Amino acid sequence: MMEKKIRLKTVNEHITCSLCTGYLIDATTITECLHTFCKSCLVRYLEENNTCPDCRLVIHQSYPLNYISFDRTMQDIVYKLVPNLQEKEMKRQQDFYKKIGKVPPNSTPAGNCEENQEPEKSQTLPPPDEDQDCHRSDEQVNICLECKGNHMKNLKRKYIRISSQATVTHLKKFIALKVYHARERYKDVDILCNEELLGKDHTLKFVSVTRWRSKDAPLTLHYRQRMTEL
Ligand SMILES: [Zn+2]
Ligand SMILES: [Zn+2]
Repeated sequence: MMEKKIRLKTVNEHITCSLCTGYLIDATTITECLHTFCKSCLVRYLEENNTCPDCRLVIHQSYPLNYISFDRTMQDIVYKLVPNLQEKEMKRQQDFYKKIGKVPPNSTPAGNCEENQEPEKSQTLPPPDEDQDCHRSDEQVNICLECKGNHMKNLKRKYIRISSQATVTHLKKFIALKVYHARERYKDVDILCNEELLGKDHTLKFVSVTRWRSKDAPLTLHYRQRMTEL
């Protein structure tokens, strides 16, 4: 028991984000130096900077956002180590979507909540600081979703407003739910911007910053049924 406490304390600095000092949420790693931050903290930071906040390495002169990547392994570790963090984060997201009157795009938990067999209450881990939660006031992005050809239904409402921290996968789930009435068919959906297929882990912030230059028009994305590879 004693040993475990010491270990958690030691590991604490490795599972927190130096930008918000909270536990990592949507852990995102800079591929050039392997430093990790919350996705929203890092994306926000890289809007004004092109260096790593920790080691000051120049990530890329012009496109630092191309050199960051979602770190599922790290996020799984954080959720495993910090009692209730994942539940809190999911609750926060659900509240957020409820507030804006939308169905959460990802209502199935990323990890496995069932194995939450009463986490050992460790006094060495402080609770995440509510006041410093930098994800609470996520920036919103306006999106226009256009159907592109083959066998896909048009959405009833093609204009949506969504957190800029949502990912392409979130959008795919939203579309799959609307079009197929089955969120789990999201892998059948391709999303494109300017004819270019978008990676599943890109945030909409990232897409609008890197792929969409006209600030006045909503970010226009096309969706289509996934092309089967030959
Ligand atoms: Zn952070
Ligand atoms: Zn670094």
